[in-house]
Amino acid sequence: MSETFTSVSQDEAGFRERTRLSFELDADICVIGAGLAGLSIALEAARLGASVVVLEGRHVGWNASGNQLGTVMPGFALPLTELIERIGLQHARELWALSKEGAEFVRANATEENIPGIAPSDGVLEVSNVDAGDRLISRLQMLNEDFDTEVEGWQVDRVSEALKTERYFHGVHYPRAFQVDGRKYVHGLAALARRAGARIFEDTPVVSIDHSGIRKRIVTPSARLRATHIVLAGNIHLGAPLRRLSETLLPVWRYAGITAPLGELLHEIIAFKGSVMDSDGVDHFRIVDGDRLMWESPETTWAVRPQRFAGSIKRRIRTIFPQLGNVEITETFGGATGQTVHGMPQIGQLRKGLWVASGFGRQGMNTSAMAGQLIVRSILWGDERWKLFSPFELVWAGGATGRVAGQLVGIWGRASSAAAGSLARYRERARVKDRKREARLAEANRAAGTGPRRPPPGVRPRPAPAPEHAAQDVKRAAEPAVQDEGVSQ
Ligand SMILES: Cc1cc2nc3c(=O)[nH]c(=O)nc-3n(C[C@H](O)[C@H](O)[C@H](O)COP(=O)(O)OP(=O)(O)OC[C@H]3O[C@@H](n4cnc5c(N)ncnc54)[C@H](O)[C@@H]3O)c2cc1C
Repeated sequence: MSETFTSVSQDEAGFRERTRLSFELDADICVIGAGLAGLSIALEAARLGASVVVLEGRHVGWNASGNQLGTVMPGFALPLTELIERIGLQHARELWALSKEGAEFVRANATEENIPGIAPSDGVLEVSNVDAGDRLISRLQMLNEDFDTEVEGWQVDRVSEALKTERYFHGVHYPRAFQVDGRKYVHGLAALARRAGARIFEDTPVVSIDHSGIRKRIVTPSARLRATHIVLAGNIHLGAPLRRLSETLLPVWRYAGITAPLGELLHEIIAFKGSVMDSDGVDHFRIVDGDRLMWESPETTWAVRPQRFAGSIKRRIRTIFPQLGNVEITETFGGATGQTVHGMPQIGQLRKGLWVASGFGRQGMNTSAMAGQLIVRSILWGDERWKLFSPFELVWAGGATGRVAGQLVGIWGRASSAAAGSLARYRERARVKDRKREARLAEANRAAGTGPRRPPPGVRPRPAPAPEHAAQDVKRAAEPAVQDEGVSQ
């Protein structure tokens, strides 16, 4: 378990009286986890008339969802070109369209009327760290023409007018992308979901589930619940209810800081009003509260107190905007995102009535909303579009070794797609090694006349995995115990 990070939104959450589940309950849908994913599902389900209960082990927005910047873009953490390479243009277009629907869900809910103080504003600028004008033009064409997404190309001088730094070259401006107060949004979602009829219980960790029957059982330390559908939206902290699922995610902690007020100088140096992110996924910033700079930068694959990152955020700001001098960081926050090996979220039905919504990585605002819509509409209306995600199987993220690999790759390249690529290769090598070892062991057992190893009691032996069969791999993650692929319980 990670440590709890203190932040404004968590303090706010602390003031509201929390309700723990202390009595037996029945519902249509039980959602585990009150982050962006769990609450988007709850809101959508309650609005469409289902009875829905959310069980949260800590409090609403405890992890990443209550400690994020609130930038809402179309697409996924996986770069678009890699998505097309993986599944082809047409399929990528369908997924991209769904990701845009997710962003529109956020836009429709994150209004001042619904969530006072949410402060929505338009426009996100993605800047390039290298001079890559020709790549930019083909990207613009692709987004505009093939993916029906409004974007503008900014030449180097336009970027340097908006951002007084020599570090950036061209830019891609998304006028329809937007930002909201990210730390308020999750609490607003909870309030909207409650208003629509969802019941949210905090300080209520789910310790086990029995998903075998039609009515599934969910066990917490103080009460039990029965539901026809369970949605696992616990991200990397899910733990005991389906440990194997958590092990398909590489936890990546991200941190951000907010400076003391910087006065007019800040506006002279940063004239762009929306969020700015660089094309390598290193820096992500925008002006907040009139003249403060909110800046997200370092990431780790181990939990560290965000306060420890104040110094490196400060240095990062100085590297990009030396004219700002030695800024003071007055607030820090952070949380753990769950990154999948393939870089795409985990959305789908593991077995009848058991759903997963996790692995949103660093782009969780639109994608978690999209997951909510897809899952609920499948449960209530039989909409099967979630199956568009089935090429993205649940893959073991490498456990502790994977984290070390992820951190090393992260330090080296700081590009999460690179991390995902090398982890995928790492996993493939590990699998091959494990299969060889299993074959040697079976051979030795045969020679010694002892026969194959018996599984421990309660563990069903399974046949060797069919190569690259997505649906089967997804199902395998829902099985109670694991013998192959080097995954340990
Ligand atoms: C610093 C930072 C900045 C970011 N900025 C952006 C941004 O600008 N735009 C963007 O799109 N994304 C951003 N992200 C990413 C985004 O925050 C995440 O992708 C998203 O919040 C993940 O939501 P989630 O609901 O899957 O997980 P979480 O937020 O981790 O929520 C899961 C919840 O489930 C609960 N839980 C787990 N297991 C159990 C259990 N057994 N029983 C009960 N409860 C359980 C946990 O306590 C937790 O509250 C940022 C992330 C960070 C850290």
